[in-house]
Amino acid sequence: MDSPLIVIDDKHVPLYRIVWVADLPHFCGEDDCTREGEYEIRLDVDDSLWTSQQGRDDVIEALRKWCGDPQADGDDLY
Ligand SMILES: [Zn+2]
Repeated sequence: MDSPLIVIDDKHVPLYRIVWVADLPHFCGEDDCTREGEYEIRLDVDDSLWTSQQGRDDVIEALRKWCGDPQADGDDLY
């Protein structure tokens, strides 16, 4: 079985630590914000990682595979 790990922002993260993934890029209006335009990946340790849109899409793809996407074709057990 594949190990449920994904690289986000140069860190290997177990997929089961991810609570949610931002659908829209971050915007807060702060002048010194360094996360603007990045996508937040919320972890269950009260911490977040930040990534590009491509990185965000990779995370969602990995989560879909790992969780089993009910929309996916094939491998229908019923
Ligand atoms: Zn901000």
